[in-house]
This record gives sequence, structure tokens and C-alpha cells, in this order.
Amino acid sequence: MQLEISGLKENKGQSLDFRFEEDFPSLNFGGRTIAFDTPVIVDGSATNVESGILVKCRVRAGIVVDCDRCLRPVTIGVETTAVEEFVEAKSVPAEGEDEDRDCRVFKGSVIDIKCIVYESILLNLPMKILCSSDCRGICSSCGTDLNLEKCSCSRQDVDPRMEKLKDWFKE
Ligand SMILES: [Zn+2]
Ligand SMILES: [Zn+2]
Repeated sequence: MQLEISGLKENKGQSLDFRFEEDFPSLNFGGRTIAFDTPVIVDGSATNVESGILVKCRVRAGIVVDCDRCLRPVTIGVETTAVEEFVEAKSVPAEGEDEDRDCRVFKGSVIDIKCIVYESILLNLPMKILCSSDCRGICSSCGTDLNLEKCSCSRQDVDPRMEKLKDWFKE
């Protein structure tokens, strides 16, 4: 997802439209494995604002993650936007300094916007990912997927809806 900006750099106020479609490898984030089941589509524009290159884009991705309760794969569509300013590196980094520290600092005439695309996807993932709102999860004793079958472990299952009803009758 590299933008060639040599023409843009010369002319303040100038804009450039772009569109990328790229397969992303799966990654680990916050203990989850995130796989991409469709290419990530990014479209937007880059503008030479005086202080740097302002990139605005829309990001669309189809990702596959495990349900938090039963671990079955769930496909979710993520649609988000990213707005970031990239600034040109002013000097050669000092000895030992990590020059890749911030991906928003670029050198030469190419900007790689992949890092802001990743960020916008990860920041917009739901906190809780469930295959369905009433997923029963996995039995903590025997590991049976309780959506598929019942197990014989003794458990006191309390349906939260029944709990509410009980409270209601008390009043
Ligand atoms: Zn589930
Ligand atoms: Zn069980």
C-alpha cells in the first residue's frame, strides 16, 4: 500500500486519489488470532498540507476471529476510516535510533499507509466477539461445545432472562 508522492511533494494543496486492494496475512492481537477472509480495500486521498501529507481513507475488511465463548470462527465485516498526517524525516536518525519507530515519518517520495490501515482495523474491533448473542460456549469441565450438544457435567445454569423474571416477581 505504497503511495508515490514525488509529484505531490512539490505542490502544496495538491491532492492524489488512491485505491488499494490487498491480501493481509493473519496476525495476533490481544490474544486473538485475526485472519482476513477477503482482500482489504482502502480508498481515499492524500493531500499536501503545508506541514506534511494528510492521508484520509476508508478501510473495508472481512475478518475471521474466534468466538469468545465457544471458539468457533466468526466472520465480521469491519468498515472504518483513518485520517493521519505523514511528515518527512528531517534528518538522518542518530546512531542507534530506531528509524522505523513511527510509520508516519517518511523518507524520499514513498509513503506506506499499511500501518495506519492495520491500526484502524484493530482499533475498531468489537470488545466482545460472539458467534451469536446467545452462544452457550464450551463446558468448562469437559470441553463440549454446548451449542452442539449437552454434556452430563453437573452445572447450575442460570438463564439471565429467568433471573430478571425472578427479581420481578419479588417486587
Ligand atoms: Zn460462540
Ligand atoms: Zn461438560
